Amino acid sequence: MDLKQYVTIVEDWPKPGIRFKDITSLMDNGSAYKYATDQIVEYAKTVNAEIIVGPEARGFIIGCPVAYALEIGFAPVRKEGKLPREVIRAEYGLEYGKDVLTMHKDAIKPGQRVLITDDLLATGGTIGATINLVEQLGGVVVGCAFLIELTYLDGRKNLDGYDVNTLLKY
Ligand code: 5GP
Repeated sequence: MDLKQYVTIVEDWPKPGIRFKDITSLMDNGSAYKYATDQIVEYAKTVNAEIIVGPEARGFIIGCPVAYALEIGFAPVRKEGKLPREVIRAEYGLEYGKDVLTMHKDAIKPGQRVLITDDLLATGGTIGATINLVEQLGGVVVGCAFLIELTYLDGRKNLDGYDVNTLLKY
């Protein structure tokens, strides 16, 4: 299946000059969403993932159906102030300033094999912070799976040494 036909390119959103890849048009097509999910499930099996971790909010859209299919857990990564129990934090740089991602302190067991999911790899900042959180908890990042990779931003260079799997490249 050619999944690219289901991704909508939105010109100049959220800012002039950005060509936003809108995945909602892929998600609302049941067979395209299932096809994409199935590909990531197959990848998750090859790396023997024991738990899926994804950053809000689109990392949930990609990761949760994979966790369900494999009957393994899903642990959410959220912006500061959203998780109710004790958290660990990781800061990451934005174009201007910085942001913080958090995770529950008991979300991952030491040594657990973690697959990280998100919809899109751009600069790799979000996933870099997510890897940092998983490793603070002693998890082993066995792979990072994305629907889309913006190859011209070279996010992979921030993920050196990690296995990265992407379904669509722009
Ligand atoms: P990075 O941290 O790799 O620079 O940016 C990736 C994050 O920004 C992902 O969590 C992703 O959801 C979001 N993002 C950036 N650009 C786009 C885009 O064009 N489309 C979508 N769907 N998400 C984007």
